Amino acid sequence: MKSLRERFIKTTILMALISTALVILVTLLLLFIFSICEPDGFQRIWLGSSVFVGHHDDRNKFAVYAVLWAVTAISTVLITCTFSSAKLSRDILKAVKQLQQAAEKITEGDLNFEVMACRDKELNDLCNAFDEIRKKLKENQNQELKNKEERNMLMANLSHDMRTPITSIKGYLEGIKDGVANSPEKMDKYLDTIYTKAIILQKLVDNMTEYAELELGRMQYAFEFLNITEFLCQLAESYKAEAEEQGLKMESRIVSEELTIVGDKSKLKRVFDNLISNAIKYNKEGGTITISMEKERNGALLCISDTGKGIKEKDKNKVFDGFYRGDAARSNIKGNGLGLGISKQIVESHRGKIWIKSEENVGTEVYIYLPLRSS
Ligand code: ATP
Ligand code: MG
Repeated sequence: MKSLRERFIKTTILMALISTALVILVTLLLLFIFSICEPDGFQRIWLGSSVFVGHHDDRNKFAVYAVLWAVTAISTVLITCTFSSAKLSRDILKAVKQLQQAAEKITEGDLNFEVMACRDKELNDLCNAFDEIRKKLKENQNQELKNKEERNMLMANLSHDMRTPITSIKGYLEGIKDGVANSPEKMDKYLDTIYTKAIILQKLVDNMTEYAELELGRMQYAFEFLNITEFLCQLAESYKAEAEEQGLKMESRIVSEELTIVGDKSKLKRVFDNLISNAIKYNKEGGTITISMEKERNGALLCISDTGKGIKEKDKNKVFDGFYRGDAARSNIKGNGLGLGISKQIVESHRGKIWIKSEENVGTEVYIYLPLRSS
């Protein structure tokens, strides 16, 4: 592909060469015609062109031939230049027109076209740059559509999660008002249910507030040097009873070496609460939960694994998004889809990483990497 500069230079040289060649040709042609029309008068008329020695008629004849030559030569040069520059400008105009049409389409919101390649390097670069802009805009448009869809889905899920306990509270309160709870036992049962539903609502609002604060970076952390080995052993012990209550086995494989990180105890506990709660909620009957930790390079690599239902391939990269819940989880297991999102924010605030490995119907492993610090 040639550059526009090269083409300009080439066209100018070509124009000069062709014009000169054509002028020589025209001159030769005129001389030929002249020699046929004035077979014996060539030298006479040539001399006649001189004002000093020439005859008046010969001078006039010479002037006629000179004007004829000048007109033909200038016309030849003009035609050659017009033809060459028309070709060059046609190519440039074609590219400019293409860009203009592309700009018009973008203004109208149509991004489903491709800016074609051009012959010249600079114009081709410009077309490519324009096409890149179009592709970026298209990507943003698609992302915007996806975000809109997710926002709508989130609103639908959220209103569903709020409407269910509110409807229930309303129903039980109406029951009390209408005298349906006509015995102390019934009244206790009604009040218990109302209380439980109110707690569910409160948890949802608390989680939403926490998630929003983390997203906005407004969460306050109390960082301190923390012996993560001791901290995790204590937590594993405290979760054991809860797991066994649900008929699950709890195992821990924590490295004996004392590892120190800089962390906020209560926030890290929140992370493990979320992960253990998931490992319990999404496990199978009689399943196992394993808490493990080992030293890896300059960090502590923690893993909470379960032998539960696992996560579908299509859900894997969405589970850390706020309010996202797998289909199965949404249908029969309680939750707001905020636990993993909150955990991710907290782990990243500790300069760590969190990721998931999971196989459907086999189990899930949630890994956390936290950098070590020497106290
Ligand atoms: P919340 O934690 O707010 O009570 P939740 O458990 O649904 O609700 P997350 O902890 O963020 O929300 O998890 C998001 C989704 O990821 C869950 O709905 C579930 O589909 C899937 N998931 C998370 N952990 C597991 C796991 N250990 N096994 C199988 N699925 C899981
Ligand atoms: Mg959860």
